[in-house]
Amino acid sequence: MNIRDFTRIFDRDVIFSNEITSHEISIIFPKELYDFTKIICEQSYESRGIMIAIKNQNFYHVQYIKNIGIGTATSTHVSQEKLDEVNNFLQKLDSNAVVIDWHTHTRETGETWFETFSGGDYKSLVNIVNKKPSRVHVLFTPTHILTWGISKPRFQILKQGNPRFYELFTYWQDLYNQDLVSRLETSNF
Ligand SMILES: [Zn+2]
Repeated sequence: MNIRDFTRIFDRDVIFSNEITSHEISIIFPKELYDFTKIICEQSYESRGIMIAIKNQNFYHVQYIKNIGIGTATSTHVSQEKLDEVNNFLQKLDSNAVVIDWHTHTRETGETWFETFSGGDYKSLVNIVNKKPSRVHVLFTPTHILTWGISKPRFQILKQGNPRFYELFTYWQDLYNQDLVSRLETSNF
């Protein structure tokens, strides 16, 4: 098994389509979040986070994205507090929901890294596949979007967008924030 064989590279110009068609596992990313993926790649630091998708046949329909850590030009740090927050959130998901990890390579990371995962990335992807073989990862860079997973997922964006996008996003956002809100309410502030 060569972990590098699970990578797929997409030029940002070719991910938009009028209809989604695939016999392979395909990540369908919301058009409404596309600008966000561009902006985070123009920062001076890398970011990482999670996405929540709903699985329907071969398609992972992404409905939510969360940034959980920022760092330096070449690495990110996620605080224990954020990890607890995320784990708490993930426990509330039902079996239809697919968790997709993501991180960025930015202008500052350097052009060499716009079309490839780093050695360090592959190291952590090995750990992930050993624990959760079905797990999928997405890398956003200024010019490309890379996917990684045993299923070698495709990455597509539907040109016309999704009229229910904001409703769905808000649902996940509220679910994520639920405990944070109740913690604030019960604290002594
Ligand atoms: Zn990386």
